Parts: sequence; structure tokens; C-alpha cells
Amino acid sequence: MQPERGFSTQAVHGGEPERKPWSSLTVPIAQTAVYTFDDTASMLQYQEEVHREGRASREEYGRYGNPTQHAAEAKLAALEGGESALLFASGMCAITSTLLALLSTGDHLVMTDDCYRRTRTFCLEFLQRFGIATTVVPAGDYEALAQAVRPTTRVIFAESPSNPYLRVLDIPRAVAIAHDAGALLLVDSTFATPYNVRPLDLGADLVVHSTTKYLSGHNDVLGGVVIGPWQYLQKIKDARGTLGGVISPHAAYLLLRGLKTLGLRMAHYNEVGARIAAFLHGHPAVERVHYPGLPGHPQHHIARRLLRNELGGAMVSFELATAERARVMRFFNALRLCIPATTLGDVYTLLLHPATSSHSYLTPEERRTAGISEGLVRISAGIEYAGDIIADLDQALRA
Ligand SMILES: *Cc1c(COP(=O)(O)O)cnc(C)c1O
Repeated sequence: MQPERGFSTQAVHGGEPERKPWSSLTVPIAQTAVYTFDDTASMLQYQEEVHREGRASREEYGRYGNPTQHAAEAKLAALEGGESALLFASGMCAITSTLLALLSTGDHLVMTDDCYRRTRTFCLEFLQRFGIATTVVPAGDYEALAQAVRPTTRVIFAESPSNPYLRVLDIPRAVAIAHDAGALLLVDSTFATPYNVRPLDLGADLVVHSTTKYLSGHNDVLGGVVIGPWQYLQKIKDARGTLGGVISPHAAYLLLRGLKTLGLRMAHYNEVGARIAAFLHGHPAVERVHYPGLPGHPQHHIARRLLRNELGGAMVSFELATAERARVMRFFNALRLCIPATTLGDVYTLLLHPATSSHSYLTPEERRTAGISEGLVRISAGIEYAGDIIADLDQALRA
């Protein structure tokens, strides 16, 4: 048996078509909405193949597939260790299409309370209207998770590491609960990327990502993916054909390009993340640091067991010693290199202030109940030299 290749070898070579048009080195952008057949026999052969297997070895129409998209899907499946992958126009499109494909009226869904806001909105407001009930359980409470499942539970949805406290899911434990109940475990692994953890290897049934973040890596394109066995993906692909949220050829090309350097970027992000966490830990202007790589983090032991290199990943959250909004804003306004932005996974180091962005829809009381303090800041490490980032944070903390 061939030994498993290294991550970056797969990032470059994994999923690449053996032969590319015009002997080009990179996978070209197939900027077309439709494909033609040489004759009626080949058209019928295509239809038969789709009927039999739910997929075919060639293209017909852009909503069903595109060669650039298929190359990106094959690379993502190779990196995540899954059988197949399906790309969508955004992360939310991947999540909503997947849940719509898997759930029917009368089914039940369990999700952790720290999932992405729009994912929660979709489950609690949209799916609810179609008679699909959702139970929300506190992240990290596996007894509550086990108690929430019912005979009608089809899916357990969890996110890891989660926003903004970077809670790490004990995937094997969640898998055991899901499978005992006859349900699937679906993990939103956007913050981890396949570089830091591969949920499918740990028994999860399906993985979703917003490819807008680390996988594309440059904040210039939206996308989303679901990865797993064709057994489930066939249904989701059919739903994508009906719902129509496929990724565009150009977006798929930018994603393919970003994926090639994912291993290099993640190795650097993880190291910078760990260095930022170490710097902030014990800084007089900082009250608390939330980083899975630090021994004080509630899931430190899970992170050590499940995350690559036992590092704590590329995201760091911390609480300023001050909870006074004007002083928090002074910190943000003093930054010279780090950029305030409501996203993550870029070449730039990005900072987010949950109280005025991701959690601004809550009242101050609700934020307090949810544990979102005024001084809470989330950092997504960039590819800059770590010393420069730390110097910038230091001068802003002094301000
Ligand atoms: C950004 C994000 C999403 C949504 O992805 P889009 O590409 O913005 O639609 C879902 N889950 C997580 C964890 C995210 O960070």
C-alpha cells in the first residue's frame, strides 16, 4: 500500500485531473454554463449514467457541475479524507442545502449553542416552519446532548472550534452519542480546516466548511463545501441541483489556487496563534485568554488529543481588562497592522469585536447572559511575521 502523502503534497497534487485541457499546468476556468454532446447516443449515455449513479463522468449543464468545480471538490475530498465533496456558492448555502437534503417534516435536529448565528437562525426559524424541530444544547455538555436525542433525531450539528471561545468538540464522544441514536454527526470544521483536524477520520459522518475563510485564504471569494461518503452526498447533490446554489467556475478556480498553499499557511497561522496567546497570557491589560493551546482552556485536554501538533490553532480570543466601550474602541483604533474585520482566515491578521459586530444583535443583558463581555476580542492570525503582530498588539494595548 502507498503511504499516505504529506498534507502539502496532497494540497498541490491531490484531486488534480490526470490530463488537463491544452496541457495547461493549472486547472483552467471552464467559463461556460452548458456543454454539448457529439451525438444523441452520447447524450443518452450521459442520462443513463446520471439515472444509475446520481453523477456522471462528463458535464451537461452548469447547475449540475463544472470541471473547475469538480477539480476543487476532488482536492477538498483528498485533504479531508472523504470519499466525495460538493461545492456551494457560500458556507451558508452548503449548510442549508445539506440540512434540507437530509431532513424531512417530523424529523428532529440537535445542535450546540455556539454554532454560527445564521446556522442557528436557519434551524430555529426556517426549518421550524417546515415542521423540523431543533433542540439547542450547551456546547461541551455531553449529558445534555445524549438526553436531547429522540427517536426522530436524524442529525447532530456541532461546530469546532467554535466562536468566540474556541471550544473544541470531543468528536469521538459526539459520534458515539449520534450513532447510538441512529443519527448522523455533521461538523462545521471551518475554524479547524483539515490541516488541524479531520473529523471524518474520527468517525463524523459529514464535514462542512465555509471555504470563504482559511480554505480560499484571501477573502476574495465566497464558497462552501460538504464532504463525506457518496451515500449521503448523492442526496445533497440532487438537492443542490434543485436549490441551485452551486459555486461559480471562477470562484472554484480561486479556491483551488488558495488550497495549494493551505498547509503552508496553516503551519504559520498555528505558530503565530500560539505566540499571540502566550504574549497575551499574563499581559497586564488583558484579563483572560481563550486559546485551546493554553492549559487553562476548558478543552485543553481534548485539543491536545485531537488537534494537529497539539498546538491550539490559528484563532485566539481574549478579554481586555477594561469593559468600558470607549477604551475598547481606543484599543481598536490604535492598531496599525492588525485590521478590524468581521471574518477570519486571511493573509492579514484580523480582529473582531463580538459586542459590536457578530453579537451586536443581542441586547447588553443578552450578551451578558451569553458571556459576551464588552472587552472580548477575537484574533485570526495572518501570515505576517509574528513579532510585528505582537508589537502592534502591544502598542495598542498600551494606548
Ligand atoms: C463564515 C462561517 C459560516 C458561513 O459561511 P459563508 O461562506 O459566509 O456563507 C459558517 N460557519 C462558520 C463557522 C463560519 O465561520
